Amino acid sequence: MSISKLVQYPMPCPKCLKYTSRLAQDLLSEKKFTCRVCGHTSSISTQQIQAVKRTLSHLEDCGISQEDEDSQGNDYDSKMELLESENA
Ligand SMILES: [Zn+2]
Repeated sequence: MSISKLVQYPMPCPKCLKYTSRLAQDLLSEKKFTCRVCGHTSSISTQQIQAVKRTLSHLEDCGISQEDEDSQGNDYDSKMELLESENA
């Protein structure tokens, strides 16, 4: 599972300079985005792609897994495994 499906990344529009938030996954796969303010479609530079990837790996390193919260009730077994491996 990848957090790129969950993380929204703001991209600056070169035309109107407003930010449009898109899913990191979409930015990485489409390498372009459409401004929600003026409708201008801009391509994303290699530098910006790298920045998105860096942000994603940083978030993954930090263990940002809050999205699991609502499945906590059914997650009993994997939680027990987690506790055991922490003690080992
Ligand atoms: Zn714009």
